[in-house]
Amino acid sequence: MSEMQGRHGRSFPRTKLGKQVAEGAVSIDNIFESGKKIKESEIVAKLIPNLQTDIILVGGSPGKGGGSRRTPTRRTARMHRSGRRYRASAMVLVGDGEGHLGIGKASSKENKLAMDKALEQAKLNVIPIKRGCGSWECSCGGNHSIPVETQGKSGSVRVILIPAPKGIGLCVNDEAKKILRLAGVKDVWTKCFGQSRSRINYAMAVFDALKRINQMKGGTDAKASKQLTDAKASKQLTDAKASKQLTDVSGVQARLSKHAGDEAKKVKSQEKIEAENIGEDETPAHHETKQKKKETKHTEESKKHESTPSNDAQSVSMHNASKHSESSEKESE
Ligand SMILES: [Zn+2]
Repeated sequence: MSEMQGRHGRSFPRTKLGKQVAEGAVSIDNIFESGKKIKESEIVAKLIPNLQTDIILVGGSPGKGGGSRRTPTRRTARMHRSGRRYRASAMVLVGDGEGHLGIGKASSKENKLAMDKALEQAKLNVIPIKRGCGSWECSCGGNHSIPVETQGKSGSVRVILIPAPKGIGLCVNDEAKKILRLAGVKDVWTKCFGQSRSRINYAMAVFDALKRINQMKGGTDAKASKQLTDAKASKQLTDAKASKQLTDVSGVQARLSKHAGDEAKKVKSQEKIEAENIGEDETPAHHETKQKKKETKHTEESKKHESTPSNDAQSVSMHNASKHSESSEKESE
């Protein structure tokens, strides 16, 4: 497998993000900030140069003298009429020991294929690890531990990671040590509950706990990132407002262009203003405006038959008025 060719001999930049990475336009932290999904394992391989891999010993076969010999792949059997059909599953970790960690799980007919698939998945599942010093016994402000106490679970397994001062080391079993070492955490206390002997769930619970720090508010990094996001959000808001105003203005202009008679509008508005000025209470104002309108209509009655109406609304009102006047004339006759 060459670097520019993944499994099955696929070519590398297949996605938009992959092309950007190939050009060198984005870094791994940019991708995490933007929230884009990594769909090519080559992206991670390219952006994290000192990527280390490790294997969680998920399987085991009973050995001599009690206990079991741990193996990298778990072999399960399904019954067939001609015997047992086996399947191997594996769990692989990737990380740079500096705040990037991925974990992958896959199964296949062959051990080797399962490992390869799991490695691919691990690269696609890489997440940023927020490190810090959340221990009151240390409070050095470094990043040798985790910033806050966190909890993760998978299946029945529940794991609690607690920040520890410098020099404590990783107080966990050997499998979780691999995970935390690749994540770049050096000192941590842990507690675990449930069936933690099932290694897959145990590893996923530790990964989940680390992942949950990213979803928390607070911490030095989190604050900075939050401020950044806030600033971005406010900028987007203002942008949206500006664009909305623009559209409003354009809409008004369109409406204006639709209406041919601007003068008629002006007249109307003047009438309204006058009515408001005259009437203190609501009801008399309305009456007065109605009266005024009637008066204006009466005066314009003679004109309307000769001149073409400029405003639609006015023409309608005038039409009504003319009808009324005609009917009244008929009645009078
Ligand atoms: Zn410290």
